[in-house]
Amino acid sequence: MFRLLDPLSVLGSLNAAQVRAVRAFGAKTVEDLVRIYPRRYDDYSNTVSIRQAPVGEGVTLRVKIQKIQKQPGFRKRISIIRAVVEDVDGSGGTGDRDRRAVGTLRVIWFNQPWLLDELKPGREIFLSGVISQHPKFGKQMGNPLWEDPETAIAGGRIAPVYPLTGNIAQKTMRELMAQVVDGLGEVEDPLPNGTFPLSLKEAIRLVHRPATPEEAEQGRERLAFEEFVIYRLAIGSVRQEVDEAGAPVVEFDEAFAKKFVAALPFPLTPHQKRAAWDALQNMGQRRPMRRLLQGDVGSGKTVVAAMLLAMAYRSNQSGVLLAPTELLAQQHAATVRRFLEIGSAPVLLLTSAKKILWEGGEETVMKLSEARDRIASGRIIVVGTHALLERGMLPPDTALSIADEQHRFGVSQRETLAVGTRPDGKVPHLLSMTATPIPRSLALTLYGDLEISSIRVKPAGRKPIATRVLMGEDREKAYAVVRKEVAAGRRAYVVCPLIDTSDTLGVSSVTDESKRLASGPLKGLRIGMLHGKLSNADKEGVMKTFAEGLLDVLVATTVVEVGVDVPEATVMLIEGADRFGLAQLHQLRGRVGRSDHASSCFLLTDTDDPLAQSRLAVLTKTNDGFVIAEEDLKRRGTGNLTGTQQSGRTLFRAARFTDIALMTQARDAAAKMLERDPHLASMPVLAAKVEEMRKSDHGE
Ligand code: ADP
Ligand code: MG
Repeated sequence: MFRLLDPLSVLGSLNAAQVRAVRAFGAKTVEDLVRIYPRRYDDYSNTVSIRQAPVGEGVTLRVKIQKIQKQPGFRKRISIIRAVVEDVDGSGGTGDRDRRAVGTLRVIWFNQPWLLDELKPGREIFLSGVISQHPKFGKQMGNPLWEDPETAIAGGRIAPVYPLTGNIAQKTMRELMAQVVDGLGEVEDPLPNGTFPLSLKEAIRLVHRPATPEEAEQGRERLAFEEFVIYRLAIGSVRQEVDEAGAPVVEFDEAFAKKFVAALPFPLTPHQKRAAWDALQNMGQRRPMRRLLQGDVGSGKTVVAAMLLAMAYRSNQSGVLLAPTELLAQQHAATVRRFLEIGSAPVLLLTSAKKILWEGGEETVMKLSEARDRIASGRIIVVGTHALLERGMLPPDTALSIADEQHRFGVSQRETLAVGTRPDGKVPHLLSMTATPIPRSLALTLYGDLEISSIRVKPAGRKPIATRVLMGEDREKAYAVVRKEVAAGRRAYVVCPLIDTSDTLGVSSVTDESKRLASGPLKGLRIGMLHGKLSNADKEGVMKTFAEGLLDVLVATTVVEVGVDVPEATVMLIEGADRFGLAQLHQLRGRVGRSDHASSCFLLTDTDDPLAQSRLAVLTKTNDGFVIAEEDLKRRGTGNLTGTQQSGRTLFRAARFTDIALMTQARDAAAKMLERDPHLASMPVLAAKVEEMRKSDHGE
């Protein structure tokens, strides 16, 4: 019997395939393995008879080998084994006593010569696979999975389908997991008695070895609940500590606020004013602000951020703005400098590639050590990328930290911007900004520790972006618009999906598409390329030439997704649009429509799958990011919270977007636990998990 924390050596000797599987997942303990949950289940519990088995679908048959032989191969290196199998009495039985009524099926296996020794005539087995209709030989099954009914893990059951990496077989994983789960002894349950009707041990068994799909779902819910509880405890305990530490107060200087607004080249929208006002109120308090500012792409979040930073500086302290990319950090630094001229605040741009200080009317390119020194003396606005999160890069008098596009940072990273940055132990106010609105139901439960500001109305004069879905030859219509717009002095983006899994940086997707466009539909236009392989300097160079109008068309990966601002860009073409999520498409679309020129977005696709089509149609009907977020949530349905990424440290593995009721339940349970036992001293197993969560980057 094993315990969860036992090393995998307790499993005894694993075969080579199992060792590879364990390595692929980086599993070290029994728990690491059982926490790899099935992605879905194949229902093999209803075996059918050969005569009733449908062609073209996955089925499981219970059969007897009638005959089996090696086919003399015409090519030496391929071994072919052919068998004829027949229904076993009672397997989905026909009840027909006539011998000729017994269904038979041809089976063929390639390159498994050892099967001749294993599968002797008369032996009963489960066969799982897809039956095809051969024009000459009739029904047959190619390379089916086979199992002995006595020891079957898949056949005759609800079989888990695990996420696989490399060339690891589903069968290997199933066998390995069954071995682990069946041998599981006492399991320490992190949740206190009575928190949830199902124990962890039971949940693990149900998820990996369910008798019915309902059982699997019951188990999953227990595991999801636990994830939510841990998450809520983590954010709750962070909040506790942060509140105890207290924040540096930023006095609200109304005269200065008015002067700042008056100096802007445009009037603030009511939503911008409200967001700025609410945040400024928070910043005047001793309780550290934890606020989320959500607003669609182009809704004008940056100026709100700039105003708050200006106020922090006004109170003789520092402010920090963290951007997700090098490009965006540079753009933000330029914007903030422009808006902050009124307060004549020094601004430092700090990325891994660049350190530039603007102070007292001078621009100084700095070495890292010089930048560090300047930061250490405080009273400065620092704009940067992750490089800021390295030790000693945040001003000791930081009163306000802002993270743009916060969904790219986890709780812990978010708090790295605040907790422990000040020698006096105070915790700066924190504002997270995102252009991916979180549906209300999720926000209240998942992000319950954050106050939320929303900018729902874009600055006046913005025209909605006309969006169309085009298929096949209809693409030409989009290219015609590109040519027309370019002729009128405007610019276009073409975004390509990553097609080839080996092309993770998008080099070949972007290169191929550029070539195709340059030699065909967009011949004669000046086309540039932006993908993940380019150095930061090169990316910046390309963006600059595009922004300056030296390029007409920019073919790119989703690198352009975040923040980039080129007002003259009026056309967005998205190839393979069905491969992107709705929220992401909406983000991409937001790259255009940034001026008072009419803009258009074309979603190009080759699939006529009605589901994909109706999904894309959402974007043609609305430009409201909040509506799109709700639709995305609805349609994502059973999708996991963390998407498809299979990371060993992913927090939400069992949880789904639709588990709103569970989330609420977990939120309340966690609040009670913290109230009763603020340091979780009586729940050491749970406390350890909460600590692990707090250390990981996967909080959000
Ligand atoms: P996002 O919310 O996507 O970060 P930005 O802050 O980049 O949006 O703003 C997009 C553009 O809108 C910028 O060029 C900005 O100067 C402009 N802008 C912001 N607020 C207003 C406003 N109230 N009126 C007019 N233009 C505005
Ligand atoms: Mg922005």
